[in-house]
Amino acid sequence: MPVNVIAMSTSAPLPAAAQGETVTDRLVEANRSYSEQFTDPGMDARPVLKVAVVACMDARLDLHAALGLHLGDCHTIRNAGGVVTDDVIRSLTISQRALGTRSIVLVHHTGCGLETLTEGFRDDLEQEVGQRPTWAVEAFRDVDQDVRQSMQRVRTSPFLQHTGDVRGFVFDVTTGLLREVDPAA
Ligand SMILES: [Zn+2]
Repeated sequence: MPVNVIAMSTSAPLPAAAQGETVTDRLVEANRSYSEQFTDPGMDARPVLKVAVVACMDARLDLHAALGLHLGDCHTIRNAGGVVTDDVIRSLTISQRALGTRSIVLVHHTGCGLETLTEGFRDDLEQEVGQRPTWAVEAFRDVDQDVRQSMQRVRTSPFLQHTGDVRGFVFDVTTGLLREVDPAA
């Protein structure tokens, strides 16, 4: 049996589902095994590497494994697209001002679901439910340009104190490799 709790938390297969069990039941069951091997690392809440990573929620992106991150190393902020929304700025501001992070890493990826959507998604929603969402879909066609826009939003935020180390990348879901995006290109 592997004893590496971190690896198990991200890559161990879940136990086979019993009949009538929901996916959440399986997760709760997996957590029981996790907690049995878990020992209190005695950390405080401030990320050891003083870095916040903003990434897409894509299921193929195992952020900790892909970046060699371990428990306690970083803040992880994820949403559809890894877009720098107001709420991401909120989290980054708290991350920097209350919890001491200094660097920001942005990770978008190839084959993102947002490349297949348009802002028409909101029109469709409005037609269906009778209410227009207040948020933008943040759909995009050019992933590099989208990373640049995210870097720009971070760098120009008045709330962030530390914008000297902001770098953006595209994660290739077929090779597992990160490619850095030149902010000036
Ligand atoms: Zn994505």
